Amino acid sequence: MYGGLDRVYVLHKWLGIIAVAAVLLHEAIDPEINGLEFGSRFDDLAEDVGELGYNGLLALVAITLTTIIPYHWWRASHKFMGAIFALAAFHAYFIEKSFSNSSPLGVYILTLSAFGVIAYFYTLVPARWMRRMTSYSVAEIERTGKAISVTLTPEEKGIQHHAGQFAFVGFDDPAHREVHPFTISKAPDSAGRLRFTIKSLGDGTKALSDNLKVGQKTQVSQAFGHFRYRETGQSQVWIAGGIGVTPFLAWADQLKADHAPVHLFVCCKTRDDVAHLDELRARAASDPDFHVHPCESLAGRRLTVGLMREHVPDLKHAVVSFCGGEAMRNSLRNDLFAAGLKRTHFRYEEFKLRSGLPLAFAWPFASALFRRFGYKSRPANCNQAS
Ligand SMILES: Cc1cc2nc3c(=O)[nH]c(=O)nc-3n(C[C@H](O)[C@H](O)[C@H](O)COP(=O)(O)OP(=O)(O)OC[C@H]3O[C@@H](n4cnc5c(N)ncnc54)[C@H](O)[C@@H]3O)c2cc1C
Repeated sequence: MYGGLDRVYVLHKWLGIIAVAAVLLHEAIDPEINGLEFGSRFDDLAEDVGELGYNGLLALVAITLTTIIPYHWWRASHKFMGAIFALAAFHAYFIEKSFSNSSPLGVYILTLSAFGVIAYFYTLVPARWMRRMTSYSVAEIERTGKAISVTLTPEEKGIQHHAGQFAFVGFDDPAHREVHPFTISKAPDSAGRLRFTIKSLGDGTKALSDNLKVGQKTQVSQAFGHFRYRETGQSQVWIAGGIGVTPFLAWADQLKADHAPVHLFVCCKTRDDVAHLDELRARAASDPDFHVHPCESLAGRRLTVGLMREHVPDLKHAVVSFCGGEAMRNSLRNDLFAAGLKRTHFRYEEFKLRSGLPLAFAWPFASALFRRFGYKSRPANCNQAS
């Protein structure tokens, strides 16, 4: 419905930002509403609970915006967002207001609050109880470019997937139990094997590359994502930034004999860094319509629209698929649109589930935080006046 789980994370982030902006407004405006006649005997408590929730929210959002905080600490802190929601639900139900809880608006808010609280408790249930994970074991580990390639064989029946999808993977040892999303870097095969190509981008993936052993047990979630190859008859440009080559490895693996021309541009420091370059070259050698172009930044060969046009003269009618960093995506996308590419012909995968905010967005929040804890411009009894 939302275009894949990777897009749901982005939507979640922006809905969160809108919600926080609304909460800041709620606190800052403190409306002088007439006719606050529907109260309860827990009115004062509801006021205090609302205050507690507001301060807790500011603290959790500050942690979320500080992307240097390690992922697992941030994730642990983010679980308390639901507790803040529960406090807000209590506040909304018992606070004095201008409508009763049994009015249509009251029932609407109550129903939403109940769904929110139930959803929160659902997320707290350990994943292994509620969400199905499938057991695999590590069959093969190989170094390739700057990454390791890990082939898994299913213990029983494996998961279903399409080329280009990703799954959450957790290795059965205490140091690597946290699940991480990785793209399945091969098309489905009849033996149900999965291959993940993993680059050390942080502490967890570095430890994984150093310690993973053949035979180790592994848990894999269902496959997610809508970044799939579509044969449209038009020339295809695939752009990979570093380890963003993984979905294209799976796509290349499932190309049919009569496919439209495909040009894969892999942006890297040197071609030795590119994972599975031999496999891609072997494919290009046996398929006249599949071409690989490593763009080595150390050799001064950066990917530009001009370079793409040298290989794909009808670039503005091509379909461009991108997987890599956000800054590179935005810059190439703007240049491609300026060169006449249709907006609907640019497709991409979100490769980061946790992203911070541009400073321009963070500033209003930081100043609200500052006012809240450092500087009070309102009299202390302002809340009571409302
Ligand atoms: C849809 C998708 C597909 C991906 N496919 C691949 C792939 O094929 N190969 C590859 O090498 N990398 C892939 N990644 C990136 C990979 O998930 C992260 O590099 C990895 O999780 C980093 O873990 P870490 O502990 O080493 O990093 P850390 O140093 O802990 O964190 C670095 C960053 O990685 C992300 N991250 C860390 N832990 C998690 C987690 N448990 N879940 C989600 N994100 C996390 C956060 O953005 C964090 O800021 C993919 C990411 C996404 C979202």
